[in-house]
Amino acid sequence: MTLHVTLPDGSPLELDDGATVCDAAAAIGSRLAKAAIAGRVSAAATPDVTLLVDVSAALHDGDALAIVTLKGDDRDAVDVQRHTASHVMAQAILRRFPGAKYAIGPTIENGFYYDFELPAPIAEADLARIEKEMAKVVSQNLPIERSELPVDEALAVFRAGEPGTGPSGLPVGLDQPFKVELIEDLVTAAEAEGGEVPTISVYRQGEFVDLCRGPHLPSTNKLGNGTFKLTSLAGAYWRGDENNAMLTRVYGTAFPSKEELAAYLEALELARLRDHRRIGRDLDLFSFHEEGPGFPFFHAKGMRLWNAMVDFWRAEHVRAGYEEISTPVILRRELWERSGHWENYKDNMYFTEIDEQPYAVKPMNCPGGLLIYKSRRRSYRDLPLRMAELGRVHRHEMSGVLHGLFRVRYFTQDDAHIYCTPEQLEDEVRGVLHFMLHIYAAFGFSDVRIELSTRPEKSIGSDEVWARAEGVLGTVLDSETGADGAPLAYQLNPGDGAFYGPKIDFHIRDVMGRTWQCGTIQVDFAMPERLDISYTGADNEEHRPVMIHRALLGSIERFMGILLEHYGGNLPTWLAPEQALVLPIADRHADYAQEVLRTLRAAGATDPAKAPVNLHVDVDDRRESIGKRIRDAQLQKVPYILVVGDREAESGAVGVRERGADKGPRPLGEFVDQLVDEVRERRLPGETA
Ligand SMILES: [Zn+2]
Ligand SMILES: [Zn+2]
Repeated sequence: MTLHVTLPDGSPLELDDGATVCDAAAAIGSRLAKAAIAGRVSAAATPDVTLLVDVSAALHDGDALAIVTLKGDDRDAVDVQRHTASHVMAQAILRRFPGAKYAIGPTIENGFYYDFELPAPIAEADLARIEKEMAKVVSQNLPIERSELPVDEALAVFRAGEPGTGPSGLPVGLDQPFKVELIEDLVTAAEAEGGEVPTISVYRQGEFVDLCRGPHLPSTNKLGNGTFKLTSLAGAYWRGDENNAMLTRVYGTAFPSKEELAAYLEALELARLRDHRRIGRDLDLFSFHEEGPGFPFFHAKGMRLWNAMVDFWRAEHVRAGYEEISTPVILRRELWERSGHWENYKDNMYFTEIDEQPYAVKPMNCPGGLLIYKSRRRSYRDLPLRMAELGRVHRHEMSGVLHGLFRVRYFTQDDAHIYCTPEQLEDEVRGVLHFMLHIYAAFGFSDVRIELSTRPEKSIGSDEVWARAEGVLGTVLDSETGADGAPLAYQLNPGDGAFYGPKIDFHIRDVMGRTWQCGTIQVDFAMPERLDISYTGADNEEHRPVMIHRALLGSIERFMGILLEHYGGNLPTWLAPEQALVLPIADRHADYAQEVLRTLRAAGATDPAKAPVNLHVDVDDRRESIGKRIRDAQLQKVPYILVVGDREAESGAVGVRERGADKGPRPLGEFVDQLVDEVRERRLPGETA
């Protein structure tokens, strides 16, 4: 008997009945058989369903087959490798920590992790020892074998009991309670759906057995040595629930080659040096305290940066025809019930009581903004109405996910709500799109990815309004060109819109190639209905306005973190919390240093024809050597260091060091004019007048 499979190039392959993926690879060539680590298979009956399977998986007549190897850029292959690395790590940890309980160990972007309950605490220093044990497991070249077991047998493997060997040849009595719980859940879920109780697949390599769907590399040596690295430790609750046991999460990564691993680790080190939490501490910008986990405290220099961002934001909003409003942080619960936040969002909200009435802390600004809209009669002549708000919102995040300024429990949304007529929607969306790209470019982000998300399955509003709004968003995107003059590129995400309307999202790319979703434009059909807002039309009838929610930076706090990492703390001068630092060489230059300081501080407002700017300048007259003070200023990432000694004091000059480069003496007046212009024009590093 024979069976036939089709290869990716369409060519047929004839194999013996019962042949496996590995046999197919061998039939093509011995090199491929050696390199094969998995197969992508679709059965003839279900050509749209592709399964990733072990090389030991049996093939069936009519299958379409692709052999997966670690050579070439195959995501599936790397995933199989990383997943196997997580098993190898668990095996190594069990050898070094007998009695450890293993929970789950999935792959993630750029790596994998595994969660453990350990009999003794583990430190970063232990990671190298675990890696050594992993290398041993790899060298032992243990075959990785899949078994499918009836539930009872699978439970016997992982339950506590007399150690021994079960009917399948696998060990029993391993005493792994997390695995027992997972199997029991699989059974409960199958029974709830009225389906058959499934067989349970487990993988074994040497003494280590894991509950797993697979697939895996065929043997431990395929993982390779020098290709994996354990990167960090963290705490994680079992099943992400803080009422459960806190487990130890060990993170690691693996790559097909040593070179790829080295390049990744280098990028990771760069990211560590640019970590905004570290820069925030070193530059004295912000801090976090036990007294308020997830609630950032901004220091004086942090507020200089904050204000530079916000001053720019405000000026641009005035120019773009927005009005700024401000709404309360705490409002009656009843409002949140009406807006739908209570129903959909209450798990992330904070509540309080005032005069024995229930209140909530706002997680979003929209309902408050709508009350301002409703505070007076609106006519079609008032529209479009653009109301912006730097609104401080509070959202409950699990303590485990808090991360510097990136994941916090309060943040300041740079929100705006635009109310317009259906006819005005296109112009308004176009206006916000231009505004968005203009603001990002000013902060130094010109690589922006745009996504259009359309109607999800669960949604409100008629087909007609949805079609019209999606049409408008699509029309705007299709008719715009990017900075290069080519049509604006965007990605369509069908079904990914909010339940209340379609949206456009904006992701900016930083110097490390990471993307951050910041801006959003969302059309909302629900809120105007729920809060019953209207305007009087030219026909003297009441109409529902269209409502747009939009944010540009997303959150001021998070955007500050992105800026700090993007620039590695070397912010453009207009954002730098300390733009120039004056260093008198000796005590006798102190008076002249103060004169330079006064001149610079006053300089931003001397030209009545131009908008005033504030310069942030300080003097460092500590009794330290000039060399030490220059080094310190460089560590503080001050763009301009101004050294003043006898020569400068006599000639009314300053010795300029610009971002580490010695530019020599310059007349004070000339330097002042240049600095004021650089800040006023918000020049980016490398940009000249
Ligand atoms: Zn697995
Ligand atoms: Zn909103």
